Amino acid sequence: MLVLQADKVCKTYRGGEAPVEAARGISLSLQAGDFVAIMGPSGGGKSTLLHLCGAMDRPTAGTLRIENVSLAELNDDELTKLRRERIGFVFQFFNLLPTLTVLENIALPLQLARKTGAEAKAQELAARVGLGHRLQHYPQQLSGGEMQRAAMARAVIHAPALLIADEPTGNLDSENGARVLQLLSELNRELKLTILLATHSMDTAAAAQKIIHLRDGLIEREEIQSSNPPCQVAVS
Ligand code: ADP
Repeated sequence: MLVLQADKVCKTYRGGEAPVEAARGISLSLQAGDFVAIMGPSGGGKSTLLHLCGAMDRPTAGTLRIENVSLAELNDDELTKLRRERIGFVFQFFNLLPTLTVLENIALPLQLARKTGAEAKAQELAARVGLGHRLQHYPQQLSGGEMQRAAMARAVIHAPALLIADEPTGNLDSENGARVLQLLSELNRELKLTILLATHSMDTAAAAQKIIHLRDGLIEREEIQSSNPPCQVAVS
């Protein structure tokens, strides 16, 4: 099943002295269970592409489809709903809410979607990411690695179709970075989670099945990593 389809997507930022063409006709598609990493130099357009694919921003040209829904056909409220229900996000700086406990942070997406059983599901996922003993702690009481694992649990609690990860290991030491990566790979395989991740780190990108190299808003080349075959997803 096609989770994400980007077709000749362009993004031009205006408002500065000169317009910036951050995406210049990018096409890519992710099937359910795909794990794709985007690499490339700073300013190459990685974050812009993640924002577009995560329905956080709209393209200036081209089309984006998530689970066969064309984002151009959604108004802002519908886009927010789709983002909340079908997409999970992990960022470099974790973005946990400081006034909520670990348990409350993880449960938040289900509560925002007004789903029942949020707390029980959050407990289960916290245990899954190794934070069962930290449920009542606040983010500032956690290490960076623990914060990112909490952020990952929060990102997947609502069973999103697509996980967008922007430099998820960028602020972690190598040991914690490796643990977060291990967890991402396990979630990809166990839950058939579809992942689109941007990184500067070759070690991080090595976990993906495919690496897309982005430069000056264009796909420079694509690399299939045959050592990480895509997980098998049953066709429904
Ligand atoms: P990367 O994530 O690869 O570093 P970005 O997508 O952040 O690349 O940036 C691509 C280009 O778009 C850069 O030239 C950057 O300065 C520009 N850019 C990004 N966001 C904005 C914005 N909100 N307004 C104007 N220019 C932007």
